[in-house]
Amino acid sequence: SIVVVGSSNTDMVVKATRLPAPGETVVGGTFLMNPGGKGANQAVAAARLGGAVTFVAKVGDDVFGQQAREGFRQEGLDTSWVLTDAEHPSGVALITVDEHGENCIVVAPGANGTLTPDELQRAQSSIAQAALVLVQLEIPLETVARAVALAQAHGVRVVLNPAPARTLPDELLRHVSVITPNQTEASRLTGITVHDDTTAEWAARALHAKGIGTVILTLGAQGALVHHEGQTWRVAAPPVEAVDTTAAGDVFNGALVVGLAEGRPLRDAVDFACRAAAVSVTRMGAQASAPRRAEVDALQS
Ligand code: ADP
Repeated sequence: SIVVVGSSNTDMVVKATRLPAPGETVVGGTFLMNPGGKGANQAVAAARLGGAVTFVAKVGDDVFGQQAREGFRQEGLDTSWVLTDAEHPSGVALITVDEHGENCIVVAPGANGTLTPDELQRAQSSIAQAALVLVQLEIPLETVARAVALAQAHGVRVVLNPAPARTLPDELLRHVSVITPNQTEASRLTGITVHDDTTAEWAARALHAKGIGTVILTLGAQGALVHHEGQTWRVAAPPVEAVDTTAAGDVFNGALVVGLAEGRPLRDAVDFACRAAAVSVTRMGAQASAPRRAEVDALQS
């Protein structure tokens, strides 16, 4: 099975004609409430594609947490390790979107910020039995580090999606099996501004030099660049009509771990991830846009 360790949020979106200035009230249009959080998005994406997924996360003892948990059950996730924090509210993101699609986001991590290394330690047996562990950076860094250390101690491959962008200690990176930064994240991690093929390859090599066996840079509409066992190759993104690229990276990561957990060669798993992400950008939404298996197979790369 696949263990995803990460965040769960409720995204509350209001569409307005324009974004408010400080102190200003803008009367908006439609209101939408969507399940989100990178951890939850990636766990759901993997489950829709046929992965057996255990989600390790923390929500608050409130209506948002209950709804999130119910959503995970409907998606077929194992929620045994979705913990409840009695003292902190569930994570929420308040999002305003203007007519041009420009947005303004405030995130209150709430219970995501209280998932501790000790709690993760209690989920150790799930991690030990996993084919793969997938983790991102919307939970405390020491908990991410524990996830990586536990996976490594049990000989389980660990995929780190280093999002949102930040710098990371070499000691953590050294134990990661696969890293999947986008251009911004790769630039932040390496100090190399990634803006074309050459700089993407430099950044990939720099991350590899930190001890990470497999580096996969996602390059938006340009697809991905992979550096693995001394080889570097590009994977083109299938040409699609992009409508909303929200969570493209989340779908990419969810699909990648499904491919890898099935024992597919890296090349095939990355192709599968690119195809799944390409399908997701043709529709609105984060979790809502995550495709099912047949839709991905139907899109020939
Ligand atoms: P993030 O969403 O984390 O910023 P990217 O923008 O790099 O990450 O997108 C992740 C993946 O989604 C890309 O590697 C690519 O496979 C796919 N993707 C993103 N945008 C497009 C697009 N316009 N057309 C096709 N595929 C896309």
